[in-house]
Amino acid sequence: MNLNAHFSQLENFGHSLKTSSYWLPVKTPEDIFEAFQLAKKLGLKVTARGTGLSYNDASLNGGGIVLDMRGMNQIEEWNPASGLVRCESGVTLEQLWKRVEPDGWWPPVVSGTMKTTLGGCLGANIHGKNNFRVGTIGEHVLEFDAMLPTGALVTCTPKKNADLFYAMIGGLGMLGVFTSITLKMKHIYSGLISVDARPVFNLHEHLNDLLENAPKNDYIVGWLDTFPGGRSLGRGQIHAARNLNEGEDPNAQETMKLAYQHLPDRLFGVMPKSFLHYFMSPFVNNPGWRMVNIAKYVSALRKHTFRQSHAAFHFLLDYVPNWERSFGRGGLIQYQSFLPKETAEDAWREMLLLSQKRGLPSYLGVTKRHRPDKFLLTHAVDGFSLALDFKVTERNRRRLSEMLQEFDRIVLDAGGRFYFAKNSETSAESARKFLGDTNIARFKKLKKRCDPNGLLESDLYRRVFG
Ligand SMILES: Cc1cc2nc3c(=O)[nH]c(=O)nc-3n(C[C@H](O)[C@H](O)[C@H](O)COP(=O)(O)OP(=O)(O)OC[C@H]3O[C@@H](n4cnc5c(N)ncnc54)[C@H](O)[C@@H]3O)c2cc1C
Repeated sequence: MNLNAHFSQLENFGHSLKTSSYWLPVKTPEDIFEAFQLAKKLGLKVTARGTGLSYNDASLNGGGIVLDMRGMNQIEEWNPASGLVRCESGVTLEQLWKRVEPDGWWPPVVSGTMKTTLGGCLGANIHGKNNFRVGTIGEHVLEFDAMLPTGALVTCTPKKNADLFYAMIGGLGMLGVFTSITLKMKHIYSGLISVDARPVFNLHEHLNDLLENAPKNDYIVGWLDTFPGGRSLGRGQIHAARNLNEGEDPNAQETMKLAYQHLPDRLFGVMPKSFLHYFMSPFVNNPGWRMVNIAKYVSALRKHTFRQSHAAFHFLLDYVPNWERSFGRGGLIQYQSFLPKETAEDAWREMLLLSQKRGLPSYLGVTKRHRPDKFLLTHAVDGFSLALDFKVTERNRRRLSEMLQEFDRIVLDAGGRFYFAKNSETSAESARKFLGDTNIARFKKLKKRCDPNGLLESDLYRRVFG
């Protein structure tokens, strides 16, 4: 293994960060160990990277080695009777659902894109629109194997090596590299999901709807129009969805077929969707997006119920490939804050008003309902999250960064938390405030045990834990 001719530039999902690294594709646990030995010899740091879809610097490693995990992409064992699946860590959610869905199963937790790898999903401990009901993906992992920089291949379950289990899931690949993951899928009786769509007229109603209606549904998610102030601040639309019960879908045999789940790659059967982001670009500015949001809100006023395929419901963001390119050359930043249900409304009112006052509105606001979990670096709370996408330009970069630091203060004062797959601003001090000194000390102690030479580091690790 050598690093010649592998130095290349990598970006985050939002294309707002760029760093150059030695790019090393790996296919086996032995390759990973060899990469550790090479890094030690050359004095370099190592980061595992799945599809690189984190919005921030979680899978960037300027000047170091980045392991391309996508070659470890075998579904090793699938049991349609029990719903248990064992996969290499570079398997994507797309590979996974396409394998299990025709047998009547669905991944228990998915991200808004199906392109993520299981290793990346465990590294961040992703949540779905059902977080309030089933927790994060880590709660559905029965076992994983990971290669540590010491050369040990460890097996972890909630009982065996439990300290590592709860720290490596959500541990951003900083303790070891997942090689194989066993998960339990969720049974489904139809390829369709039933969705109730309804408008909400202000922030209070918005959060109240999530709170009241989450327990009656399997999934709930809100779109928040970030532009209006006054009595309409926080207005938007709620999508509350439930899986169909056995017998509810008379065409279940048809709808469970993969062909039924397919997201079309052409708009109106004609225009390739891969071109759509070029048409979106002229609208991705303050006046343009305000108009888009007004149009969306007006169309959201009609209360209705409809059925949709699982893929269309879960992976809406994959509908327009490369949509993030429409944000232009500076890219985008996503700021996701997690707040207790008691403080969320006041804190988000303050943040939304601040962004409007500064002329730095977010172009997309998404809300979810959450519950806490037992993972060491958890981002979850008994409350809600609000994800806000901001366009980055040469002119606004510094002002945006200053505003997001003010957001951090508001969130921390309100007892909130941040998510390490999204925010690019969280500082070491902010992390200490929400994770607590004790948890950070526990994480660092495990790091010393798993990685005594400090080989595993990413740009995010240096920013937050360095
Ligand atoms: C459009 C879009 C929608 C999204 N929606 C959601 C959502 O609904 N919910 C949510 O929670 N997140 C969401 N995300 C965030 C995304 O799920 C996470 O960032 C996820 O980690 C990305 O997976 P990846 O394979 O690209 O990982 P990467 O970005 O490549 O890596 C993520 C982290 O995992 C580590 N890692 C990767 N592979 C391994 C491995 N094999 N072993 C150990 N560590 C590893 C990396 O070092 C890094 O720290 C979304 C992202 C996008 C772009």
